[in-house]
Amino acid sequence: MSAPNKSFDPVEVAALSAESLDAARADALAAIEAAADLDALKQVRLAHAGDRSPLALANREIGALPPAARAEAGKRIGAARGAVAQALKARQAELEEERDRRVLAEEAVDVTLPWDRAPRGGRHPLTTLQERMVDVFVSMGFEVAEGPEVEAEWFNFDALNFPPDHPARSMQDTFFVESEETGLVLRTHTSPMQIRSLLSRELPVYVVGPGRTFRTDELDATHSPVFHQLEGLAVDEGLTMADLRGGIDAFVAGMFGPGLVTRMRPSFFPFTEPSAEVDMQCFVCRGASAEPGGAPCRTCSSEGWIELGGCGMVNPRVLVACGIDPDRYSGWAFGLGVERTLMFRHGVEDMHDMVEGDVRFTLPFGMEI
Ligand SMILES: [Zn+2]
Repeated sequence: MSAPNKSFDPVEVAALSAESLDAARADALAAIEAAADLDALKQVRLAHAGDRSPLALANREIGALPPAARAEAGKRIGAARGAVAQALKARQAELEEERDRRVLAEEAVDVTLPWDRAPRGGRHPLTTLQERMVDVFVSMGFEVAEGPEVEAEWFNFDALNFPPDHPARSMQDTFFVESEETGLVLRTHTSPMQIRSLLSRELPVYVVGPGRTFRTDELDATHSPVFHQLEGLAVDEGLTMADLRGGIDAFVAGMFGPGLVTRMRPSFFPFTEPSAEVDMQCFVCRGASAEPGGAPCRTCSSEGWIELGGCGMVNPRVLVACGIDPDRYSGWAFGLGVERTLMFRHGVEDMHDMVEGDVRFTLPFGMEI
C-alpha cells in the first residue's frame, strides 16, 4: 500500500510498466479461457479482477508515479482491466449457456415411460351401484335418509311390529351389543330408518335409505355378516299398492332399461301388510330362457325372472307406533339387497370378491357401472 506522497520507488513502479501490465493481462485472459465451469471462473475473477489482483495492485501504484506519467499509466491499466472484464463477461455467458444446455439434457423427463406401477384401486362397485340405485329414487323426488348402524332394539324390532318372541331377535341371527341391558343391536336391516324418518319428518314422507346391515351369517359365496340394503318408504294420503307397483317399475326401468315386467308374490314381513316379494323379468334373456326351446341364461338360471327384494304396504301398527293416524295416511315400503343386485346385474358370483379388497376386482368396474 502506498501513500500519495510516497517517494518515487522504481521497484513498485515496475508493476506499471507496459510489459508487466501486458503479462498480467495475458495471464488473466489465459486463466479466463481455461476456466472449465462457473465455479472455476469465480476463482479466476477473484484472482485477476479482485482487489488483490495484479492489475488492481498496479492501479494503486499510479500515485507513486510522477504526475506527468500518471495519465499514460492509467490508460494502460484501464485498457487491461477493461479487456479482462470483457473476457470475464463473455466467458461467464458461455459457461452459463453450457450449464443450461447440460441441465436441460440431464433433467429431461421421458413422458413415455410407465409412470405408475402400483395400482391405486377404484371406487368399490357396491358404492357406485348403491349411489346409482339411490339416484333413481332421488330423480322421483325421494330424499336420502340415513341412520345409525348401532341401533336401539326398539327401532330395529319393536316399532316395526316384531313380536317379543320373533326368531330374528335371537342371538342366532342378531349381533347384540354387550351388555344386553343396553338394548342395542347392530341393525339387522335398514328398516329402522323408516321409524326414524316418520318420527323426525313432516308428512308426507318420501325417503330412500342406503346403508350397512349386520347378521350373524358366516362369510360364504352368497352370505356375508355385513351387507348393504336400500330401503324405500313413502307415506302420504291415499297411497295404494298401485303406487308401490309404480315405484318399483320406475326403479326397474331406471336401472335396467324400459319394458321389463315386474311381478309380486305374497310374502310376510312384520312391518308391512300385505307383503310381497317382487321379481323382475330377466334383463338379459327377457324371459326367453324359460320358454320351451329357449337358450339357457346364466343371469336368471333360465327362470326368466330375477328376485329383486321385499316390499309391501306399511303396516298400520308401524304408523301408530310413530304417532300417525292410519285412517288418514297409508304408505308403502321396500328393501333391496345391494350385494344381490351387484351379483345378478354384473355377474359377480362370489361374495368373497366383494369383501376381500382386491383391486383386480374393483378396477374393471371403473367410475360408473
Ligand atoms: Zn335370463
